Amino acid sequence: MQFEGLMVSVSGVRGRVGEALTPEVACQFAAAFGAFSVGRSPSRAIVVGRDSRVSGPMFHRAVVSALQSVGADVIDIGMAPTPTVQMAVEHHHAAGGLAITASHNPVEWNALKFIGPSGLFLDGEEGKAMRTLLDGRAVPRATWDALGQVSTDDSAIERHIDAILALPFLDVEGIRARRFQVALDACHGAGITIFPRLLERLGCQVHAINLEPHGRFHRPPEPVAENLGELEALVKRSGAVVGFATDPDVDRLALVSEQGRAIGEDYTLALAARVIVRRKRGPVVTNLSTSRVVADVATEAGCEVILAPVGEVNVAVKMRDVGAVVGGEGNGGVILPDLHLGRDAPLAGALILQLLHESNGTLSAVVARYPQYRIVKDKLDRPPVPLDAVYASLREAFSGADVDTQDGLRLTWPDRWVHVRPSGTEPIVRVIAEAPTEEEARELVRRCRAPLDALTA
Ligand code: MG
Repeated sequence: MQFEGLMVSVSGVRGRVGEALTPEVACQFAAAFGAFSVGRSPSRAIVVGRDSRVSGPMFHRAVVSALQSVGADVIDIGMAPTPTVQMAVEHHHAAGGLAITASHNPVEWNALKFIGPSGLFLDGEEGKAMRTLLDGRAVPRATWDALGQVSTDDSAIERHIDAILALPFLDVEGIRARRFQVALDACHGAGITIFPRLLERLGCQVHAINLEPHGRFHRPPEPVAENLGELEALVKRSGAVVGFATDPDVDRLALVSEQGRAIGEDYTLALAARVIVRRKRGPVVTNLSTSRVVADVATEAGCEVILAPVGEVNVAVKMRDVGAVVGGEGNGGVILPDLHLGRDAPLAGALILQLLHESNGTLSAVVARYPQYRIVKDKLDRPPVPLDAVYASLREAFSGADVDTQDGLRLTWPDRWVHVRPSGTEPIVRVIAEAPTEEEARELVRRCRAPLDALTA
């Protein structure tokens, strides 16, 4: 079945509301997901949650109906972070979970994210199997007496907070005693449902902006440095020791230092991982496009770093397979298997407060302990031919580099790397490089682009 303009990825489907993404399309995917999930599970329950987007309630009603129509019982947790939906799936031993959120995408987008029974997103094989049911005739619908039931669960967020505060890595009483001043930008997203309460339970004095959960984002909701000017000003104005910014579905966390400067999303994982690896040895997993600073933190503690293909589920599966102690992505996504195998911004926030508590210094002083790198990201139209010849020529040109071919081509040296990778959802190739200086990173990108540009010229 063709869905014009819809972006189908490994674990989800997204589109512009009223264009590619309509309630009819959402119903088809939700029915297929429901049938797929209950068909392979002893449970008939599917947990449903959504972020704060204006279109969220409409798609919520649509997917609940579709799930009932295939005989799936809906456990509705309402507006909630994506990691809370994942944890609720585990808690209820459900057949799966469905998060209605376009994550960091602008307000005109929405999406469905599909979660399997272990709380992980569907992987490539599972997603493919689920999509074979997308032809409406193939989905077995329930008769009137076998329709799914709907119940609500109002405790999912409090359980999420309780689980974070019970982690052995946190000195909750110690953090509480510090009475940290914390600035928060929730971007009118689902973070409102969890972050103020979590910070309150950690004894923080919270200075917050964008706390109304109406989903009308007045700035681009991706928590990258250029979108955090308001939070930087709030940190300076309030004298906070740290600023937290989340994306609308609360799986990514960006930090602003006490100096009122966004320090870059890569540091969220590096600093959160530091708290873990000092207490628990084991592999640290990141994706192939994550900053070296994470490796610096892991190596300092004697932990091995293992790289996974880009995509949250790829990182989570690798973490499960190698028994990682911590991992995630350089976009502010921290995953702690002791909590659950998904990116979790509230968890990241708690770990950063633990770091500030135990380091007894400022955030910028902690950051200054590590080498500084610059990342340069570029993209270009995908050439109409396979990229194997490009990869071969780059391997030859950079013969001294370590080579990783799990996901495109990544070339690595002791203090720099470059990653050439076709996007999974868009007709583009991404070229990302990191080096000690911006000039060096740009040069790596330029040299890797050249054979690609030659193909499209
Ligand atoms: Mg997100």
